[in-house]
Amino acid sequence: MARIAIIMLGPPGAGKGTQARRLGEAFNFPSISTGDMFREELNNQTELGKKAQAYMESGGLVPDEVVDAMVKTRLSRKDCKHGFILDGYPRTIHQAEFLQGLIVEEDAQVLTIGIHVEDEVLVNRLSSRWTCPKCGKMFNAKSSPSRAGDRCDACGTPLGQRKDDSPGVVRERLAVYRRETKPLIEYFQERGSYVEINGADSVDTIFGNILQVVKQKQENRTSASLP
Ligand code: AMP
Repeated sequence: MARIAIIMLGPPGAGKGTQARRLGEAFNFPSISTGDMFREELNNQTELGKKAQAYMESGGLVPDEVVDAMVKTRLSRKDCKHGFILDGYPRTIHQAEFLQGLIVEEDAQVLTIGIHVEDEVLVNRLSSRWTCPKCGKMFNAKSSPSRAGDRCDACGTPLGQRKDDSPGVVRERLAVYRRETKPLIEYFQERGSYVEINGADSVDTIFGNILQVVKQKQENRTSASLP
């Protein structure tokens, strides 16, 4: 079966991480978040984590070559053999071109799911977002609180708020998104792999819509390759 690469594209707070995790569970593909990988490196105080720290805390992007090398190593692992979901990568045109160089098989399918959400909604969402520092599960104090109160309902760890979810850093992250990442919409549209989803709907509705898009893509491929 052709390998499938699903790219979740959208501004911070659009819901990429939540949807990527659910998709990963549904298809049994790893969902790979470069932000989570950097946060783990930082928690473990590795050289890579220390290198990324200042960029992350200011809301800027970690340099392409650092992220690219990390993703290359991750995608070479066995669990990515049949497919993977990328959350937060690529974030620049350079990264997108690098990724294209990594997916060399002719029959690989790339599907980019853009989640569209208006700016005001994003700022509101991020300021009430609580994250599990251990397993990365995300909650929203208003719309989707943890069933375990101030602890993660998946692993029991006390929840925390990300430093870069503070209003000043959020503004910078949104500006960086518009400048560096938004041009990827056109990049993937030109390559015929972009589908946009309305991110203002409920988590379940968005997930249902994404599932439909993925299935449709798989069906189109199957029928296209029939004799
Ligand atoms: P995220 O959890 O995806 O919002 O990422 C948190 C932070 O990690 C970002 O604000 C960046 O500083 C850094 N980061 C994550 N992914 C990338 C990427 N693909 N390119 C550059 N920096 C990244």
